[in-house]
Amino acid sequence: MGPINRVQRVGAQAIVGAFLTVATSVAEAEAHIATARHRFWRRAVKMWTDMHTLPETNPLRRGTDRIRKFRRYHRSPLYHVADALKHFDMETLETINPFTLAPWDERVQANVDGQDEPQTEAGGLMQIALSSSARNELVGFGVASEKQPPRNRKLKLKTFSTTLGARAEQNPFSAELAAMAHVLKMVVGIKDYKITLLTSNKAAALTLRNLDDSLARSCKLLGLAKEQARAATQEDALPQERVPRMKSTTLNIARSQAVPSSELPENIGRHAKRVDAALPGKHTRQLYDRLMWKEASVLAQLRTGMARLNGYLNQINVVETDQCDCGQARETVEHFLFRCRKWTAHRTELLECTQTRRGNISFALGGKQSSDDQKWTPNLEAVQASIRFAITTGRLKAT
Ligand SMILES: [Zn+2]
Repeated sequence: MGPINRVQRVGAQAIVGAFLTVATSVAEAEAHIATARHRFWRRAVKMWTDMHTLPETNPLRRGTDRIRKFRRYHRSPLYHVADALKHFDMETLETINPFTLAPWDERVQANVDGQDEPQTEAGGLMQIALSSSARNELVGFGVASEKQPPRNRKLKLKTFSTTLGARAEQNPFSAELAAMAHVLKMVVGIKDYKITLLTSNKAAALTLRNLDDSLARSCKLLGLAKEQARAATQEDALPQERVPRMKSTTLNIARSQAVPSSELPENIGRHAKRVDAALPGKHTRQLYDRLMWKEASVLAQLRTGMARLNGYLNQINVVETDQCDCGQARETVEHFLFRCRKWTAHRTELLECTQTRRGNISFALGGKQSSDDQKWTPNLEAVQASIRFAITTGRLKAT
């Protein structure tokens, strides 16, 4: 972690321009970059999940049992990952078999735009609509098919539905794929038919385009499929067959539970936490992204408290005293921003912006106070005013 954290710090500094003395975790939070630990765990969880989707013939897949075993000595690094994820049933994950499809092999034609295709002379027409549904913690699909035999014999309409499994294991996309697989098995051996598969994903876009007769019929068919899909996910519906868990769904859940959140360590960044209770959070990007380097560096100094002010410079033994030149108090960020008499003339704009919350350091620096509610967003105008104030005083500039 050591060398990687150094890179993280250099990266964070390049983004926000904080001092090198700022703790890595604080710099990361300011620059809104994920911590190394967070990234490692995301990778590790993905790797452990991926391993369980390998075919049984793969030695890595066969080795997962042994990795999971507790050993007093010579414990595999992967054991920690296995241990953190022991509550997840990885054994029932889908197996993803490798296969190749040469560029010259024929593929299924997808027609997303709903353009008219030339009518074929041969045989009959068959339209199959499929739809997926996810509700009541269940995932399922429905299919509606319409068969038009050649020479205008009677239309044959068929519908059915299947409950796939729990939402924790399946997702609407996997249901859609399962429905397609099912339908493809159904149509094997049907000859002399032009077969169209309709899925609901792009159906809305389709209906908006020239709604002619055949399209209206497709929509009706899709509606039927949707109805069936919803029937498959009624409360208390039971899965018809055992379907393997989906990798993507399992991975998302595993990550949300096993990957450590990137909270700031307890005794680090006291000033930063006081200024901004929402650290780490996305809002810091709003603060820094639109700033020039010089402005960003000023803001980072004020927000981290590691600034070219005597209060901090004295801490790192650069100046003899922590008192402000005005002789009134310790030169802290608050003193500099709100109270120091030396800068009274520069402070008008800042005071105008912060009328109701005068002297509030969180508000002035785009931070969240613990008393702010969920809908809080940083006041960018106030932040701009603070930055302009700090720059015009020239106090934070390196000499
Ligand atoms: Zn002063």
